[in-house]
Amino acid sequence: MSDEKIFAEGFKSTPYWWEAAPPGTVAGSPLPSETDCAIVGSGYSGLSCALELARAGVRSVVLDREDIGWGASTRNGGMISAEPKFADPGTLRRRFGEERAARILEDGRATLANLQEVCEREGIDCELQLTGRFVGAHSPAAYRGLEKKAGALEAEGKSGFELVPRSRQHEVTGTDYYHGGLRFTDGGSLHPALYHRGLAEACRRHGVVFCPGTEVLGMERLTEDTRAPRFRVHTARGAFESREAVLGTNGYTGTATPWHRRRLVPLGSFIIATEALIPGQVEQMFRGFCTMSNTQRILFYYRPSPDHRRVVFGGRASFRKSEPARASSVRLHRYLCEVFPQLRGVRITHGWSERGLHLRWPSPHGRARWRAFLHGVQRKRGPDDELSRPENRFEDLGTDESALRLRRSAFPDPTPLRR
Ligand SMILES: Cc1cc2nc3c(=O)[nH]c(=O)nc-3n(C[C@H](O)[C@H](O)[C@H](O)COP(=O)(O)OP(=O)(O)OC[C@H]3O[C@@H](n4cnc5c(N)ncnc54)[C@H](O)[C@@H]3O)c2cc1C
Repeated sequence: MSDEKIFAEGFKSTPYWWEAAPPGTVAGSPLPSETDCAIVGSGYSGLSCALELARAGVRSVVLDREDIGWGASTRNGGMISAEPKFADPGTLRRRFGEERAARILEDGRATLANLQEVCEREGIDCELQLTGRFVGAHSPAAYRGLEKKAGALEAEGKSGFELVPRSRQHEVTGTDYYHGGLRFTDGGSLHPALYHRGLAEACRRHGVVFCPGTEVLGMERLTEDTRAPRFRVHTARGAFESREAVLGTNGYTGTATPWHRRRLVPLGSFIIATEALIPGQVEQMFRGFCTMSNTQRILFYYRPSPDHRRVVFGGRASFRKSEPARASSVRLHRYLCEVFPQLRGVRITHGWSERGLHLRWPSPHGRARWRAFLHGVQRKRGPDDELSRPENRFEDLGTDESALRLRRSAFPDPTPLRR
């Protein structure tokens, strides 16, 4: 199949998810003259924060340079797990000690229940499907790594996972690409843009003010009193004052916040969606419609679409920050066919990019400027969340070399936002 033939007629370089829930449907309000909390960025981080604040009676304004929901939150894979994937329990314990490692792990595991609770409480219908997930080993050595991981989980008394040797792999997936893998019964997938829309609607119901098309150009600290902070927020549409500011700008963090920008490395990533497949084909590849990822450093992650008719396949197609959608799509299609040769000849209808981030390491803490929350789909928790606790707000999540390094930093202003 020539490169051009992989594109279905009407191929779009916008997310497949936007067919059901495009960004830009949330109406904006004029800039206020003042508020309790200015939230920059309207993805999951910004909206989850706004929602929690609103439920606690704190007024907030969500500002986005683009439409509400334009960023990674409506573009990602929508895959969910309840297992923190950045390190195994043993590594965590060695780095942080028993107690803290246990808290970090519990936090990660609690996110799934939290996600379910938010969806239920706020009536968010986002095609949440808890179908489990499979991590495929790309080599025999990687399988041994998964065996070790399974052993560590077992030693912790955890259940809900199973090592699947290569000989039984077809019970989970229709590919021979892997050398066995680890199957988890927890986790699954959701429709990321519908989840985002549900969060935005919940925010709206709770009185959150939205200002789309409002680039934040900078923030000025009006007082050095960290117990009663005050900011002037400068935007392309004017300025206003706020008691607190939250930055949820992800890989799109720019010159408005140079302190953060220096510490973040944006990484481009790409996802493709296939055309509708013949009935039964998706289930043959994803038994029980579980989601899948692999152990390679250059991760692929893939899943069935919520209607089980397509494959949504993501990965790092290029190390460039951005690349034309068609070029990335060609590359990803090639990887897709390596994993599922039966999809040769299947065309793709959507191919899109998004920008995630890595934190530079080491990341000096110094005096906190603004509060930052870093969340994935599930990474929203209340004030008890280990990463949201005031003393942890400036965290160093490390790079591949460091695996994970969470340090308790001296956050000078633990004043809760509650009135
Ligand atoms: C390729 C990829 C796949 C992923 N897949 C998954 C997955 O399957 N499961 C999962 O749990 N997580 C996944 N994630 C992670 C998840 O998508 C992100 O962690 C999450 O969406 C980040 O949300 P956010 O609110 O922090 O940022 P975003 O949703 O990216 O929002 C940031 C917003 O900030 C705005 N902004 C930036 N600067 C300014 C400014 N100066 N003024 C005003 N607005 C500004 C941008 O316009 C943007 O809308 C994936 C990430 C990537 C990169």
